[in-house]
Order: sequence, then C-alpha cells, then structure tokens
Amino acid sequence: MTDTVAGHSARYWRRLEDGRVLCELCPRLCRLKDGQRGLCFVRQNIADELVLTTYGRSSGFCVDPIEKKPLNHFYPGSAVLSFGTAGCNLTCRFCQNWNISKSRQVDTLADDASPETIAHAAAELGCRSVAYTYNDPVIFLEYAVDVASACHEAGVANVAVTAAEILAEPRVEFFASMDAANIDLKAFTEDFYRRQCGAELAPVKETLEYLAHETEVWVELTTLLIPGLNDSDRELHEMTRWVVERLGPDVPMHFTAFHPAYKMLDVPPTPPSTLSRARKIALANGVRFPYTGNVHDESGDSTVCPECGQVLIGRDWYLLTKWNLTDDGCCNHCGTRCPGRFEGPPGDWGARRMPVKMSDFEVEI
Ligand code: SF4
Repeated sequence: MTDTVAGHSARYWRRLEDGRVLCELCPRLCRLKDGQRGLCFVRQNIADELVLTTYGRSSGFCVDPIEKKPLNHFYPGSAVLSFGTAGCNLTCRFCQNWNISKSRQVDTLADDASPETIAHAAAELGCRSVAYTYNDPVIFLEYAVDVASACHEAGVANVAVTAAEILAEPRVEFFASMDAANIDLKAFTEDFYRRQCGAELAPVKETLEYLAHETEVWVELTTLLIPGLNDSDRELHEMTRWVVERLGPDVPMHFTAFHPAYKMLDVPPTPPSTLSRARKIALANGVRFPYTGNVHDESGDSTVCPECGQVLIGRDWYLLTKWNLTDDGCCNHCGTRCPGRFEGPPGDWGARRMPVKMSDFEVEI
C-alpha cells in the first residue's frame, strides 16, 4: 500500500484491456480513464492506478448520542465520535446531508486526521464507539478500515452508517472491521432505488442477508418515509415481511421523517401519523422492535419487552427516560434477553452534540 501526493492506493480494482481502470467496490462498476473520478467523486484514476483521494481527511468530527445514528440496541446512552469525508456512490434526490455527500472535497475536508489520532480522540473523549457516517463510508473503505483497526486497539467499537451499496468481496473486509451497522433501507422497490437514488435494491438485500447470517455485526435498519414515494401500506407490508422472514424478527427498524431537501423540495414533510402507521404494520408482521424516529413520540421510540410488555428502555428522541434492563441486557421483570449489545448501566451522554477539533488530539506516529 502506498500513498501518492493526491491520495492513498485504493483496493478492489483492475486494469481493463482498453487501458481504463475498473473500480469493483460498488455496483456502479465505474470504468475510469486516466484522470477521471468515479461517480462517488473520491476514487480516481491517477496515472493508471485507482486512488482514494480523501484518505486521512474529514468533513468534521462531532460527539453524538448513539441513538442519533440511530442505534437503539448498541450500548444505549453512550457517546459516539462521528465523522465523514466527502462524496457518495448514490445520487438520492432527497439527500438530507447533501452539503457533505455532494461536496467536492476541497470545499469541506477541513480536518486532517490519522487513524491513530481518531482512535486516541475517541478514547480520550469517553466515546464507546466511532461512527462512519454523514456520507457513505463504503466509498472510503481503506480509510475506514484503518481507523477501525486503530479504534479496536484502543478498545473503541466501530459503527457504519451506510446504504450498503457494496459488492460481495469488499463487503467482507469492510464489515469485518465493524461492530454495528445502521443500514439505510431506502425503500422496497427497484423502481424507487433506480429513479430516486440512481442505485439498486438487490445488492442491499444481499448485503443485509450476509450481515444477518454470516457476521456478528449488530444491525439496525432505517427507512426515511417520503410521502407518496415509499410509504404505501403495500410496500411497508412487503418490506417488513421480508425483514422478518430473511433477517429475523429481532432486527430493529427505524421509520424516520423526510424533510424537503436538495432536489426534492416539492414533496411535503412526512406527517407523524405515517411513522406510526409504518410502526404498526411492522409490529403486525412480526418485527419485535420497530421505532418511530426523529419525532417526539415516547411510545413509538421506546423498547418494549416482547415477552412481558414492560418498557425496557424509555426514550424521548435521543434522551433515555427509563431503564429496566439488567447489566447483561435482560428484562428485569421477566428475564427475557433483549437482543443487542449491552454492558452495565446505560451511558449518560444525553442528547448533547459536541463538535470536536481533531488537531487537539494529534498523536506522534
Ligand atoms: S466506489 Fe466510486 S468509483 Fe468505485 S464503482 Fe462505486 S461510484 Fe464508481
């Protein structure tokens, strides 16, 4: 592995007979002439080699509650150090983070950070995990994997927030570095993926089945419900039945509200009743832990014991309001284990959001 002036050697590519480079990281399969960048903007053919141009550079760091990722069953109440880079391999018209994902790196990548510096910062700040988020970490795989390895050495866990548009070979390496993932299941039709995201649903389903059956990664799903586009009863029934049949009933599902953004300014915000309707459909189809997200809805966002009905973890948005789990994650009323990752009492980070300057944590290598 070598660094160039413009970036870091990328993996998962090969040279084609016509001289172009084929990137085999995601289903886009970009074919790049010398100097060309992929659709994600950050992987580039430089002198007939594929290079990741954003290695070691971030769009910013922030300590968040883990519930904001959202992950409701992964060390609840703990702090997570979140960061992203630039670019994205999807072209979602409704992107809620478009200033980062659509940015050209020079505009936004202000914070230089080595993997060791990030791991050191997370440990110093008392973060239980680091989240690869804001833009899709699949496209900066080489950087994410190195940061994750440094974090593991420092006793810090790793969380991917991703749309899971990644091919079979790289996904093994990528998810081997992760302890948890929130996967953005954007809809349940190929039509939506193609028209609204310039992407495909099939690879996402494959990755979800891979994660559920072949890894130890803790997985939760998020679907941003957009009025008229992916929120019909029929689609929600199909999606939630598939989740239960193919992934199992214990995979939590978060239904979150859309706000007009980027190229989708002509669609109204999601009414809270849509989130409650989706949650009811999920429950009826056997999803044990469906949640309404990014709204104040304590009953829809709390974790309930599927056995005895006691509230295990009360939540109001990102704030924990009740805790009825034993230190190893069992219901303190009936003893049923709550699926997820738990250790001792809940964290006390609360709903705070704290921006962090990585230069305050630089380590000598
Ligand atoms: S990761 Fe980027 S360059 Fe590679 S195939 Fe996907 S969009 Fe294209």
